Amino acid sequence: MDTPLTDKFNRPIRDLRISVIDKCNFRCPYCMPAEIFGADYNFLTNHELLSDEEIVRLAMLFAQMGVTKFRLTGGEPLVRPHLPQLVARLAEIPGIQDLALTTNGYYLSKYAGQLKEAGLHRLTISLDSLDDEVFQVMNGRKSTVSRVLAGLAVAEASGFQAIKINCVVKRGVNDHTIVALARRFKGSEHIVRFIEYMDVGNLNGWKMDDVVTADEILRLIGADMPLEPTPPNYPGEVANRYRYLDGEGEIGVIASVTKPFCGNCTRARLSSAGEYYTCLFAHNGTDLRGPLRAGATDEEMLDLIGGVWRRRTDRYSELRTSFTRVPAKGAEMYRLGG
Ligand code: SAM
Ligand code: SF4
Ligand code: SF4
Repeated sequence: MDTPLTDKFNRPIRDLRISVIDKCNFRCPYCMPAEIFGADYNFLTNHELLSDEEIVRLAMLFAQMGVTKFRLTGGEPLVRPHLPQLVARLAEIPGIQDLALTTNGYYLSKYAGQLKEAGLHRLTISLDSLDDEVFQVMNGRKSTVSRVLAGLAVAEASGFQAIKINCVVKRGVNDHTIVALARRFKGSEHIVRFIEYMDVGNLNGWKMDDVVTADEILRLIGADMPLEPTPPNYPGEVANRYRYLDGEGEIGVIASVTKPFCGNCTRARLSSAGEYYTCLFAHNGTDLRGPLRAGATDEEMLDLIGGVWRRRTDRYSELRTSFTRVPAKGAEMYRLGG
């Protein structure tokens, strides 16, 4: 690319989060509450889902537009059949410096080795508590802690290093267990990242009272294991970093609600149905699957993708803090990819 593609606020397009499937084997109430996502819920059909071929083609086009990092997500990405084959193809795309995957860890024991072999660079595993009863409440009673930790152990043995552990913190549900989670990984190479519970989508009944703020999270953990801020690894890093004063590693805090970071947001999202979103909170995506299936050329697709990014003005989280009432929300996270 000659001139870098930037949006209305001069933000380049750098990352693409690819939701490879809308289905998930968990029912975390903050994401896919079981009351709504029951047995009769209509997930995408195989025909509606992007095929491997289509994901790879779109990924190549995004890479041509300036994307250097892919993150595979969902839904639960490991529920998509033949994911390692898809990873192998994405790993070969020129210009891709970072290929990561976020998973709930349930099927990791089975797939970690294949994913490493396929060329996946990095892993993020979601684990909201080490207390089984609390974890079960957070995941809709679909998994035990030991199952996820077993997946983590296989991932380590397969050669994944510095694994990130994501923990969404919800007031009155798992906040009393976050210190233990931090302690468990202190001194290891893995980094726990505590995430403020967000108001993504319309189904989780979000209210501000349920959010444990980044400041509170830091106070809770810091009271036990003193911390100090440490500079970001690169501009625009989503998590704020804090290192333990005794030198035993670090944690991250993702303060999307109380300290929004839209100014540096270089992330695009591709939903499992081929919609292209320029913000996690966007109402509408741009359909890429239709033109792709109708035979659009690479040039036409690049025009479409580039045009949407050039017009981009999203900064939902920054606006949210300036509203007295929470503005209307858009698509669900399981669909467009967290
Ligand atoms: N199923 C995979 C998993 O859970 O890791 C990948 C998809 S999930 C949507 C991606 C990340 O988004 C997870 O770490 C999850 O905890 C987080 N997440 C989901 N809903 C959230 C919410 N309402 N607020 C904050 N984080 C959320
Ligand atoms: Fe599934 Fe991940 Fe959503 Fe939980 S957060 S329901 S594991 S997609
Ligand atoms: Fe990026 Fe939208 Fe999140 Fe702001 S609210 S950081 S623009 S995804």
